[in-house]
Amino acid sequence: LGKALNNALRKLARSGTVDEATIKEVVRDIQRALLQADVNVKLVLQLTKTIQKRALEEEPPAGVSRKEHIIKIVYEELTKFLGTEAKPLEIKEKPTVLLTVGIQGSGKTTSVAKLARHLQKRGYKVGVVCSDTWRPGAYHQLRQLLDSYGIEVFGDPNEKDAVKLAREGVEHFREKGVDVIIVDSAGRHKEEKGLIEEMKQISEAIKPHEVILVIDGTIGQQAYNQALAFKEATPIGSIIVTKLDGSAKGGGALSAVAATGAPIKFIGVGERIDDLEPFDPKRFVSRLLGLGDIQGLLEKIEELQKQQEFKEEDVEKFLKGKFNLKDMYAQLEAMQKMGPLKQILQMIPGLGYSLPDEAIRVGEEKLKRYRVIMDSMTEEELEHPEIINYSRIKRIARGSGTSTSEVRELLNQYNQMKKMFKSMNKRKLAKMAKKFNL
Ligand code: GDP
Ligand code: MG
Repeated sequence: LGKALNNALRKLARSGTVDEATIKEVVRDIQRALLQADVNVKLVLQLTKTIQKRALEEEPPAGVSRKEHIIKIVYEELTKFLGTEAKPLEIKEKPTVLLTVGIQGSGKTTSVAKLARHLQKRGYKVGVVCSDTWRPGAYHQLRQLLDSYGIEVFGDPNEKDAVKLAREGVEHFREKGVDVIIVDSAGRHKEEKGLIEEMKQISEAIKPHEVILVIDGTIGQQAYNQALAFKEATPIGSIIVTKLDGSAKGGGALSAVAATGAPIKFIGVGERIDDLEPFDPKRFVSRLLGLGDIQGLLEKIEELQKQQEFKEEDVEKFLKGKFNLKDMYAQLEAMQKMGPLKQILQMIPGLGYSLPDEAIRVGEEKLKRYRVIMDSMTEEELEHPEIINYSRIKRIARGSGTSTSEVRELLNQYNQMKKMFKSMNKRKLAKMAKKFNL
């Protein structure tokens, strides 16, 4: 999936001009990549429709090229698609009891060992309980994985009662005073109903803080039903999606689980004990798209956004009616570079103002002339342009070596901008002023 998505974006990067046809082709490539990863068709269509719409309609912020902006859109929408926020596993109480459930072969036992090691590395004392009475060798499988790390495994290969084992195991580790107890269950059921039933039985006995469903990532979009049934049955469920290394269907499984709203906390990316990663949609998507490409871009956009935030002060000024020639000049100069005011105004929800371009954009040459003219003004004139009468205009024109019509043009520009802000919907502006704490 990563490779196909990466290729789609590379193609975009190589293309000359970015027109509607280019955008549609990129969207088609993304569509194909997602479908091949077994992502649900409906989800794919929704996602690519949004990407296409945004790519066609949104103007890239100044300083950002159209290509870069499209990459950012793809990144944002894919991230949203997978849940946006990372939801880390929290260990609040001591001991915290975790119960894993999942169909046999999903990677439960392996994930229990990985998780135990993950928590041990973070300084927690961990105990693991094997309550799998179904599979011979389950206990030894865990010991083989964990003995060398000094993580104790509680179990009894001869015991036949899983619930009893789970209860005794948790009791054992409570007495030992560990921080986290992880219980591995049998998961011999092939369908969702049996799985939930088993979870409820053991749950009742040990009252876990969190039940973790382990889902095999190679089943693709079939993961949806498992995750949904589980989410409906338990309020404290989180999910580990395994075998995302090398599986073509990983994207399907991840998006299917995300679509249910159940939190994916870890992903399994290999057979070794260290092959477990806390799931962070942002990081995951960055990597899918090629980290190097996207990282620099995101930093650049972040930097631009910081600059824009700074410009919000200017917006406040306009709203308060404190808008003088100096402000105008600073604003025109800034807009020369990046056109922030227009974007800020457009970014403000509910304002949705479309500003006439000619009112806020002047050419570089003109701006230089304005500078020259303004240099011949007094401080008072710059701060209170309304006092500039005809004799002052003549003086300024003479002093700056320009003409009275040029000075008037500057003043016209100023009045036009000022009027524009004044004419904006008062109610909306008031709302916005409140937002800005004015
Ligand atoms: P259980 O029956 O749910 O306890 O599943 P196991 O933990 O015994 O795992 C079943 C098989 O899947 C084993 O061969 C594991 O090595 C393998 N496995 C588990 N997680 C991963 C993973 O993230 N990547 C890969 N490649 N294999 C995995
Ligand atoms: Mg097992």
